[in-house]
Amino acid sequence: MNRIYTEEEYRLFTPGPINIPNRVAHAAALANYHHRTASFRHILKDTLENLKPLFGTKCPILPVHATGRGTLEGVYTSLFSSRDTVISVANGSFGEMAVKTLNRNGIPCVPCFAGWETPVDIATLEKIIVENKPTAITTVWNDTSTGVVNPIREIGALARKYGLLFVADTVSGLGCMPFRFDEWGVDAAVVASQKGLMSPVGISFVAVSDRALEACDKNDSHRFYINLSDIFKNISGKGETPGSTPVSLILSVNEALNMINDEGLENVFKRHKALSRGTKNALEALGFSLYPFSCAARSDSLTVARVPEGVSSQEIATKLADSYHILISKGLGNTAGNHVRIAHLGHCHVEDMLQCVAALEAALDECGIKDTFGKGTKAFLEAYRNTLRGE
Ligand code: PLP
Repeated sequence: MNRIYTEEEYRLFTPGPINIPNRVAHAAALANYHHRTASFRHILKDTLENLKPLFGTKCPILPVHATGRGTLEGVYTSLFSSRDTVISVANGSFGEMAVKTLNRNGIPCVPCFAGWETPVDIATLEKIIVENKPTAITTVWNDTSTGVVNPIREIGALARKYGLLFVADTVSGLGCMPFRFDEWGVDAAVVASQKGLMSPVGISFVAVSDRALEACDKNDSHRFYINLSDIFKNISGKGETPGSTPVSLILSVNEALNMINDEGLENVFKRHKALSRGTKNALEALGFSLYPFSCAARSDSLTVARVPEGVSSQEIATKLADSYHILISKGLGNTAGNHVRIAHLGHCHVEDMLQCVAALEAALDECGIKDTFGKGTKAFLEAYRNTLRGE
């Protein structure tokens, strides 16, 4: 029995995966390409070139056939060995994941633990660098557990000052907010397909500096499957990946990038900012408290907020899913019980967020929070329109 179509259809406001545009889904269905043909090599090259403006780089972009965490692990094991010491900024769940990944791979790691509600403090980070004399630093740019945006420009400046390799996890922010790989001095950055790239889960892309490629070449301890040196040699030499390429995922990302180019990258960023400010204003009007505390550190790709008194994040998420077929996420770690995470990233437009905010008003009402109708949508539209007008 074919059960694929029996699943309820949900609208996704989870911070990945997100709703996939029809254009991308149709491109993915053109699966009869062989990965070792001239026509596919052309598509792969085009895809990698079109990713460069999102990363803000002229450096090579490498495809990795794994999700974000597999690719991040592959980047760490390609660049680092047991002879390195890596400072890892851990002010959120995905920052903490980096610490675990480095530890499990036997790469000496000094965590820079910090509260989840603010960006990492640069003075504290510099102190840890001076005390530990590391060879590298890793940071999550947009931590999807908290909606905190870390100051990559300032961390990159520290990395250059102390001669450290700098890896940034840009999985959930790239294509939603401007990123400047070259200007900020980043050596490797990773994006996964299911966020700003509006595609199904399963492939990631890594921007790599010359310094990063040199470190990979010198590293004799790295692994077989995700080996950035091998991937770089295959891509720059033959225009192909080692092993079979997940063709349908490359076609998806290629078409998603065409959509981004059609809209214009600056307009994509502006849309994300307007949706983000609209959503944040709506949630505040509905009695939520925004997280992180500082406005400047808040992500444009998702909104994280503490729920109003008298209701739990689980109740709200369940009502939205059961009554309105809308999926949002709860907080992660300690924030799971009383925080929600609502994404407005990738294939998300004003009509989508109006639907989500209106459903949220109704769900809150059903959870016993009174006087919600119209409040969220009005606040959403005010901030959304003001942002588009440049106010
Ligand atoms: N890093 C960040 C910031 C993420 O948001 C995620 C996933 O949500 C990951 C890493 C892990 O990526 P994946 O789930 O594709 O393995």
